[in-house]
Amino acid sequence: MTTTAPVQISDQELATLNERFESASPQEILRWADSKFGSELVLMSSFGLEDVAEFDMLWRINPNARVMTLDTLRLPTETYTLMDRIKARYDVNIEAFTPDMGSVKEMVEEEGYNLFYKTIDNRKLCCGVRKVEPLNRALNTVGAWITGLRRDQGMARGETAIVERDEAHNNFKINPLSNWSFDQVRAYVEENGVPYNELHDKGFPSLGCAPCTRAIEPEEDLRAGRWWWELDPDAKECGLHVVEKATR
Ligand code: SF4
Repeated sequence: MTTTAPVQISDQELATLNERFESASPQEILRWADSKFGSELVLMSSFGLEDVAEFDMLWRINPNARVMTLDTLRLPTETYTLMDRIKARYDVNIEAFTPDMGSVKEMVEEEGYNLFYKTIDNRKLCCGVRKVEPLNRALNTVGAWITGLRRDQGMARGETAIVERDEAHNNFKINPLSNWSFDQVRAYVEENGVPYNELHDKGFPSLGCAPCTRAIEPEEDLRAGRWWWELDPDAKECGLHVVEKATR
């Protein structure tokens, strides 16, 4: 059995890449990532609009590109329908990571099925069990992961670099859509006939678990529908994209 040495990128090379990619298209960044990391590269997808756009771009570059997802077991029916459509349209295997069922059982027995509405700590506990632990399990197996983060989504996302060292998972995190707006993403999806979640047409720009996501009004922030009952906008992250920043 042969093992491949992990890809190394020096801090200087990282800085040069980020400078170069500031004016690059998402496709150029994805092409670089595909050639640099090969089968060690995965798109970590929650099947939001950004994720399906990126997957379409990546698939056109490499039809064998890998896609992973976190199936929290609380996703909207529409998201599962979309996953089936993506599998059929692109003939792709979606590598789904589910929560540890022992931890779910323990949490639900102690705090209830809908514990997240009671306190922020409970909500973070649930995100930890259903998202962060499976994410860590998934990411510890790859050399680089692609996200759909955009800088204009606010909160910690404003600092998003295009290629980052992910110390927590000993790999690299690539954010090809950092400089894109939601309208650019939507235009790509429309122009290329990419399958998307029908909830986007019902006022859901940002998608997550069914009990924690609602539609927004036109004047509201794009992420206002996530954990809408929580009043502190800085608390509105599930830990997926801040965990490694916090460890730096
Ligand atoms: S988004 Fe809601 S249901 Fe999903 S993991 Fe977080 S708290 Fe739990």
